[in-house]
Amino acid sequence: MSDVEASLNEVDAALEAAREAGLLRRMREVETATGPHIRIDGREVLLLCSNDYLGLAGDPRVRRAAAEAAEAWGAGAGASRLVSGNLSPHVQLEERLAEFKGTDAAVLFGSGFLANMGVVAALATKGGVVFSDALNHASLVDGCRLAGAETVIYPHADMGSLKPSLEAAGDRSKTIVTDSVFSMDGDLAPLEEIVDLAERHGARVIVDEAHATGTIGPGGRGLIAELGLEGRVDVAVGTLSKALGSYGAYACCSETMAQFLVNKARPLIYSTALPPSVVAAAAESLRILSEDEPPARPDGDGSGPEDQAGVVETLRSRARSFRASLAAEGFDVEQNEMPIVPLIIGDAGATMDVCEAALEKGVFAQAIRPPTVPEGTSRLRLTVMATHSEAELRDAAKVIADVVGKVPN
Ligand code: PMP
Repeated sequence: MSDVEASLNEVDAALEAAREAGLLRRMREVETATGPHIRIDGREVLLLCSNDYLGLAGDPRVRRAAAEAAEAWGAGAGASRLVSGNLSPHVQLEERLAEFKGTDAAVLFGSGFLANMGVVAALATKGGVVFSDALNHASLVDGCRLAGAETVIYPHADMGSLKPSLEAAGDRSKTIVTDSVFSMDGDLAPLEEIVDLAERHGARVIVDEAHATGTIGPGGRGLIAELGLEGRVDVAVGTLSKALGSYGAYACCSETMAQFLVNKARPLIYSTALPPSVVAAAAESLRILSEDEPPARPDGDGSGPEDQAGVVETLRSRARSFRASLAAEGFDVEQNEMPIVPLIIGDAGATMDVCEAALEKGVFAQAIRPPTVPEGTSRLRLTVMATHSEAELRDAAKVIADVVGKVPN
């Protein structure tokens, strides 16, 4: 057998194992632009699983900004930022992100995945220890794998475990990494305690605000701002791809740290700068957030009803009412303002069945299975958008109750 044949057998075997475990993944084709409604297999359905929390990906103002930037600045940046790709839109967006997050500087990255990998690997070097929450996003996990430092994984949000681990690391260089809003559960990291512990033990803190930006904190500035911890976190990573409706990411930090990242973060150094249209879209989203403008449906002209609340407050109000609707249908969901609502089904196959049955009835909530979530906790990860109407969310809660009630688990 040739090496190529042997390798194909291995690939086949891996796919077969995933299929047998009910964990084979496939990509569904979405036939329209993203928005509160999308078309799948020729049918219009309510989108209830995207990270476009504020509905800005399809917002007419944001789409226009992207189109105008493509006309003015071209389709691509042409090189990495350290060569010739550092265009004025990149520099301006960094200034606005730093201002928004209350830091001295911000550094753009190609994506949230690249930012997390790059920042963690650059800071957690050989001889040091990196402490990582057990439910951190895969990009932080891979950053730890790439880093030269020893990795200590502490049980989710368990400060009683983090503290003795920090003590045991003695005077080695220490870095703590954590999501601020955990992506699959929507719960919050105990950031005040993490920052206190870090200060006591001379550890650095890297926080991933991917799901916090645009959802939590004053004006959607994130959990660090919500808790008044500005200036006490070394690097706050955030992505432009979720609530900001575009693509790419950023690390907010001091000027010195920014200079360090520009010199040491390999995904920034060796990868092409973001396309100008993507940067302009994120800048327009940030403007809408900063000026507290209302959301707009993708098919509108972007003006929105005059009496409507700002985009972040609208999201929070929709999240509150969706959670209330789910509770009214008998689900045990927390009554808060977070747009991520995990509905744990447990078994992977049963979760897929629920997902397909909901889709049949016009609600798309992708099933999330291991290894994205721990074994036995497969779920529908429902997410609210500011552009959903209250009535749509109420109806969706009914559909979900109906299909969950019918699938044995
Ligand atoms: N961090 C978290 C917590 C995430 O959920 C994600 C995306 N799922 C990322 C980082 C990666 O961001 P991006 O999609 O911009 O690569």
